[in-house]
Amino acid sequence: MTDVQELLLSRIRDVADYPEPGVMFKDITPLLADPVAFTALTGALADIAERTGATKVVGLEARGFILGSPVAVRAGLGFIPVRKAGKLPGATLRQAYDLEYGSAEIEVHAEDLTGGDRVLVVDDVLATGGTAEASVQLIRRAGAEVAGLAVLMELGFLGGRGRLEPTLGEAPLEAL
Ligand code: AMP
Repeated sequence: MTDVQELLLSRIRDVADYPEPGVMFKDITPLLADPVAFTALTGALADIAERTGATKVVGLEARGFILGSPVAVRAGLGFIPVRKAGKLPGATLRQAYDLEYGSAEIEVHAEDLTGGDRVLVVDDVLATGGTAEASVQLIRRAGAEVAGLAVLMELGFLGGRGRLEPTLGEAPLEAL
């Protein structure tokens, strides 16, 4: 493990049985509160944006907004929010998906993504991969290309990577 990985891991708090019994919640608020760790994280994610040739950053509600926005600024790219259904005022594309705990629908403003875009999707945790898979489908339905998916951490035992790889194809899945 690198020094940066050790730093990031040390700032993630495990909260047992939240938001419901059986879930080990990965709380990133200690990481966000530490300027050295937060800067290291957004720098590493911005490196991925540059390496993958992304032209836009999509952040997944809600913690993907906190991580994706500084990544977009650092990489000199626009930021596009993918939100839970009913939160965006304009014309949207909508996609249903399953969560580790529950199910939901996500939306993006249709006009925010176009044919020439290469999109890096950013989120904090990859669990079952349902949210990320739905976002990839949304981005492609909007006509854009997926440059990659970048997360702070993946919960390997939930099989998200295996679920996503056929969907992602050549686009990399990077978990810091
Ligand atoms: P999934 O669609 O199952 O991959 O779930 C990913 C989404 O749910 C991400 O937006 C995460 O923020 C959140 N999430 C799922 N499981 C956890 C967990 N154990 N700890 C923190 N966040 C989680």
